[in-house]
Amino acid sequence: MKEQTLFKKILRDSGYSTTKARSLIFDLLLGSDDPRTMHQLIEATEGRIDRVSVYRIVELYEKLGVAQRINIGWKYKIELSDVFLDHHHHMTCLDCGRVVAVKDEPMFEEMIERLGQANRFVLKSHQLEMQGYCDRCRSNAAQ
Ligand SMILES: [Zn+2]
Ligand SMILES: [Zn+2]
Repeated sequence: MKEQTLFKKILRDSGYSTTKARSLIFDLLLGSDDPRTMHQLIEATEGRIDRVSVYRIVELYEKLGVAQRINIGWKYKIELSDVFLDHHHHMTCLDCGRVVAVKDEPMFEEMIERLGQANRFVLKSHQLEMQGYCDRCRSNAAQ
């Protein structure tokens, strides 16, 4: 199913209509390779969607599982959920804030499965956030 179609279906199934503002935020997230900060979303929609609505829409997306929050210390970024993107994890640079998507690692996914079983859980999702210093920041620091 095409991303937009699926997005509309998720909204409709929960009793929400697809407004212009909702579509716009979705398209921004879909068109971005990197997770977005709230600030970036607000900036990108300035004059079209007011700040409060941006927060409200993102909150709705989290509730409906359209988007998810990536916690980076006390801050966070927003990206589309695994429904739209291939499952992956993140490494965040503690210096420049760059977020790198780490492709699915089968061994790790199996381990998570096993952990779920061992605790009698049927796991539906998980997140793994890793923090450190990226190559750019490490080479800057070395100079
Ligand atoms: Zn960095
Ligand atoms: Zn995983």
